[in-house]
This record gives sequence, structure tokens and C-alpha cells, in this order.
Amino acid sequence: MDRRNFLKAGALGAAMTIASTVSFPAYGKPGRRKGKSGKLKLSFEPYELKLRHAFNLAKSQRTTTPDVQVKIEYDGITGYGEASMPPYLGESVASAVAFLSRLDLGKFNDPFMIEEIHDYMDSVAPDNRAAKASVDIALHDLLGKIMGQPWYKIWGLDPRKTPDTSFTVSYDADPDELDAKIDEASPYKVIKIKMGLDHDKELVEAIRRKSDAPICVDVNQGWTDKEQALEMCHWLNEQGCLFVEQPLPKEMYDETAWLRERSPLPVIADEFLQRLPDVRRAAQAYDGINIKLMKCTGMHEAYKMAVLAHALGMKVMLGCMTETSCGISAAAQLSPLADWADLDGNLLIANDRFDGVKIVEGKIALPDRPGIGVKLL
Ligand code: MG
Repeated sequence: MDRRNFLKAGALGAAMTIASTVSFPAYGKPGRRKGKSGKLKLSFEPYELKLRHAFNLAKSQRTTTPDVQVKIEYDGITGYGEASMPPYLGESVASAVAFLSRLDLGKFNDPFMIEEIHDYMDSVAPDNRAAKASVDIALHDLLGKIMGQPWYKIWGLDPRKTPDTSFTVSYDADPDELDAKIDEASPYKVIKIKMGLDHDKELVEAIRRKSDAPICVDVNQGWTDKEQALEMCHWLNEQGCLFVEQPLPKEMYDETAWLRERSPLPVIADEFLQRLPDVRRAAQAYDGINIKLMKCTGMHEAYKMAVLAHALGMKVMLGCMTETSCGISAAAQLSPLADWADLDGNLLIANDRFDGVKIVEGKIALPDRPGIGVKLL
């Protein structure tokens, strides 16, 4: 045997040794199995989320959030998902049920075809982003359970790097009530406030009398004058604020770019963007993006958005709607990639159906369970 053949034979022998001595865990091969359907089965049901405290809007009050709970079954394993649809996003239980009824997931016999399933959903109808997210989340839960691993591990993320989550304090004209709300936020390390309403400065000053926790400011497009917005950014910077989210209407793109150039605080896009193709345009006018599963069709696209945003030098924030622990735990799987998280949606409802991610000393604690990490209560 010459040297070349000797080396070849040696390498083959080594490979055979590895193959015969290493046993791989039975993660469950995709495809048809004896006695099982080998096809994806989608089911869904409307589920009204009951809010612990009424949401006060400009002209009305809201005490519930429309929601659809979703299941995907495959080979005896169930993945859970949900679509939460606060009315301002333009989806409803009726639109989600209509969209989900049009899906034929039975045509897929390999649940690992995530990209194909998303392409298929986009081909069935545009928009319907929360409805698509419900399928995406259930699919990820199912896949994680098949692989026996949580998604943060599948993505190779360090669970110690989860950020603190913020807790929202809203203004109250009664100083005692306002003090009580600020006290309620004391277990959290970051406070979030809504601005662009009356009493903006009063609210910050009241918080600062009782707490030195950093404050995240969400203006919800509420400022309309770029010069005044810049003045507020300087003032908020002196008050120990971290960033300002959607300070100007999303249509005021050039003005936002102008503000970002001058603001001492990072300017974060929320209403401005929905899905992956919006990230690149956001990079020209904003310092970061707020990713929400219900806006971007779920975990698959959210992951891509976070990676792209970081590659473009942007900050990443993870947000949510009022959701059960299902949607929140799904988003939390991505949280080691986020600079900031606002994942308190499950804490705001009285009828959570799931046990999942927890907040421990203000920080997101990822459960050590496969998939999105939830258990039906
Ligand atoms: Mg926002």
C-alpha cells in the first residue's frame, strides 16, 4: 500500500469507528412513520384575552384583546401558537379564522420546511401577519419538541444574556395613585412610559422623585414638531432615559433622520416597520428597531430581522402585544439577541393558558423546556 492509499484507508477506518461508536439521539425523523399520519394538522380556536386593568385610549376603554389559539400536531407531538390582535393592527378573529381556514398544512409532510411553509402562507394571502405568526410559533414549538431543545439553544444563544424587561407606568392625575403605580414597578429594573400625551414631563418628574431606574420612552408617533422633539430628547437624556421609541409619525421619515442625527438618545422604530424588508430603510432614519412577532409573521422572520439589524449596526428591541405566555415565551427565545425587551404582555392578562417564561429580579428567565418552553395550564 502506498502512502496515499494508506492515509485513505486510515481515514475510512477512523470514520467507520466514529460511525459505529457514536450513537445519535433519536430526535424523530421527519417524514411518514408507521402508524402515524406524517402530516401537519392545524387546528385553531378564538380565545378572548381578559385584561387585568382596562386600557385607556383617547376616546374609549378596552378590557379585552381578541386572540386565536393555534395547535399544530405531527406524529403525536403538539406545538402551540397564538395570534393576538389589538384592533389598531387591522386584524380580527374573523380575519385570522378566515386566513387559517384557507391553509392546507396537510400538504407538508416535513415540519422542518419552515421557509417553504412561510412562502406558502404568503402566497395564500398578503398581510395577516398575526395569523401567520400563530402558525410560525406553533411550528417552532413543534420543531423544538421534535429536536428536544429550546429555540434559544437551537439558535446558539446564551440564556444568561437575556435583557431586563421593562414595566409600564402610566400617568394618573391622582398623585397617590401615581405613586402607587411607580411603587408597583419597583421590582423591575427598567420603567417604560408612553409619551406624546398631556403631562409628559410631570410623569417623568414623578418617577424621578421615587426611582432612579432607567426609563424607556415610547411616543407612539405622538410628537409632530422635530425641533420640539429634539428639545424633549435632550431633556429626557438628562433624566436618565435610555431611548425614545417612534417619536414622530412614521410618515415623517426625513424629519426622523434629522432628529436621529442630533438626538443624544437612540431613536427606535416601531410603527415605522413591520417585516424584514423594512429594516434596511429603517437603518437610514433610526438607530434601532422594535421587533414584535405579531407584526412580522413570527419567530422565523424576527430572527432574521434581529441579525440584519445588528449587521447594519442597529439596536434591537423586542416588544409584544397583550398575549398569553405562549406568544411571550416564543419572543423570549430571541431575547439574548436583544438590547432591550418589553415583554410584559402576559402579565397584563387575567386568563393566561400557559406556564412559560418568567421574570426573575426584572430579568427574563428562559424555561428549560423544548420548543418555545410552554406548558398548558
Ligand atoms: Mg411602541
